[in-house]
Amino acid sequence: MEAKQLLIDGNWIPAEEGKTIPVIDPSTGQEMGAIARGAEKDVHHAVLAAQGAMEGTWGNLTAVERGRLIAKLGQLILENKDELTQIESRDVGKPLKQAANDVIACARYCEFYAGAVDKIHGETIPYLEGYTVLTLREAHGVTGHIIPWNYPLQIIGRSVIGALTMGNATVIKPGEDASLSALFLGNLAMQAGFPAGSLNIVTGYGEEAGAALSRHSGLDHISFTGSPRVGTLVQQAAAVNIIPVTLELGGKSPQLVFADADLEKALPFVTNAAVQNAGQTCSAGSRVLIEESIYEPFIEMLAARFSALRVGPSQKDYDVGPLINQTQYKRVNRYMEQAKGLEILAQGEVIPDAPAGGFYVQPTLLGRVPAEHQLAKEEIFGPVLVCISFKDEEEAIAIANNTDYGLVAGIWTADGGRQMRVAKAIKSGQIFINNYGAGGGVELPFGGMKGSGFGREKGFEALYGFSVLKTIAMHHG
Ligand code: NAD
Repeated sequence: MEAKQLLIDGNWIPAEEGKTIPVIDPSTGQEMGAIARGAEKDVHHAVLAAQGAMEGTWGNLTAVERGRLIAKLGQLILENKDELTQIESRDVGKPLKQAANDVIACARYCEFYAGAVDKIHGETIPYLEGYTVLTLREAHGVTGHIIPWNYPLQIIGRSVIGALTMGNATVIKPGEDASLSALFLGNLAMQAGFPAGSLNIVTGYGEEAGAALSRHSGLDHISFTGSPRVGTLVQQAAAVNIIPVTLELGGKSPQLVFADADLEKALPFVTNAAVQNAGQTCSAGSRVLIEESIYEPFIEMLAARFSALRVGPSQKDYDVGPLINQTQYKRVNRYMEQAKGLEILAQGEVIPDAPAGGFYVQPTLLGRVPAEHQLAKEEIFGPVLVCISFKDEEEAIAIANNTDYGLVAGIWTADGGRQMRVAKAIKSGQIFINNYGAGGGVELPFGGMKGSGFGREKGFEALYGFSVLKTIAMHHG
C-alpha cells in the first residue's frame, strides 16, 4: 500500500486520472505527503467491486466467519497501535494521548461487533391459523460511508465496522484532510483476510469523490458525518435513489451544572469535553450552563483549568493540538471576532516555539454569554467554552434546548428526581448524568435529534440501522 493509492476490489491502485491531493501537517502547515484524488470513475469501480463482493465470497460468508475477520482486524489494530497513533496524531493534529485513545476505540468497535455478529436475531410473530411468520435481518447491500477529518479511526469504527458486521460491502470516502489512518486500516483489513471488494477506499475531495459516492445508484445505504450543509446534499442525493441515510451533523452540546453538583468531579469532564481534539468534536460539550448560586466559584475553577492548558504540536503531546487546516483556523478566528464585548475569563497558551505555520488557537473560556448570542447557539468547532448562567431547572432546560442541535447533554446534580426530569426534558440523542463521554462508549447508541441528524451508530442499535428487516409469512395449513 502507498498513501497515493485507492483500495478497490482488494487492489491498491492510483486514481484513474492520476491526480493527487497534498497532505498538510496541521502542526507546521507544511506538506508531508500526498493522497490519491479519486473521482467519479474510481467511485464507480469501487461500487461495482462492492456489488461483486456481495454476490461473491463476502456475501456468502456466515455471520461467524465475518465475526472472525472483524476480530482479527481488531487484533491487528492493537498490534499496530503505536504506528496508527503516530499517523492519526500527525495527520489530524491530535496530541498523541488522544490519538492513542482513538486507536483503542477503533479496536473496541471491532471487539464489540465481532462479539455481536451472531447475536442479532429475527422474531417469530403469532399470526393466523396455519401460518408461521418470521423476520430476518438482512444486509442492505452496498453501503457508502462519508467520513470527516476529526475522528477518522473512531468514525470508521462506528460506521464501517457496524456495516460489515451485518454483511454489507462498503465504500469509504475519508475526509480529504485526514485519510492516512483509513488507508492504513484498509491495509490491515486486507491482512486480516477480508475478501476483495468488501471494503473499498476512495480518497478525494468531497465535491468530487464524496458527491459521486452519494449520488451513485449502486448504493443501498449511505452514512454521513460532517456539516449540516453537506448532510443536506447527501440526503437529497439519497432521496433520488430512494435509499436510507444516517446523518450525524454535529452539535452544541450543553453541560448543566446545578448547585448541588460535585463540582470537583464535574470540572475535568466539563473542561476536557470542550477542548478535546481542539474542540473539533461533534459531541463537544461546548456550552456550560451553571446555576447562578455557584456561577462565580465554578467559573473560577474552570478559569484555573483553562489558563493551565498548553497548545502545541501534536507529536509533543500537549493538552491541545492545532486545528485541522487553514479554513478551520479562519472559521474559529471569525467566531472569536464575535467574542468582542464578551467577558474572556481565561485563555490557554500556545507554546512560544510552536511552528509558525501551524493552525494554533488559544483555548478560550467566555463568561456570562447571553443564551441568544451566536456563540451560545452555533457550532464553533474550536476549543471555546461558553458559560451561561441559569436561575432554576426550568430555565436550564429551556436554554439547553435553545439551539438547532440535539446530540449530547451532560447533567450534573445529586438530586435523583431532577436527574431524570431534566434527562427526559432535553431533546438530545445521548444524555450523561454525572459524567460525560464526548465520542466515547462503543456500546452506547449514538446519534442526533433535531439538526444533529438521525439514525444511530454504535451499540446494537447501529446493527439494526445497517440491516433491513424482511418478514416471511409461511402458510403450511
Ligand atoms: P464537510 O461536511 O464538508 O466534510 C465532511 C465529509 O464530507 C468529508 O469527507 C468531505 O470530503 C465530504 N464532502 C464535502 N462536500 C461533499 C459533497 N458535496 N458531497 C459529498 N461529500 C462531501 O465538513 P468540513 O468542511 O470538513 O467541516 C466544516 C464544518 O462541518 C466544521 O467546522 C464542523 O462544524 C462541521 N463538522 C462536523 C463534524 C461532525 O463530527 N459532526 C465533522 C466534521 C465537520
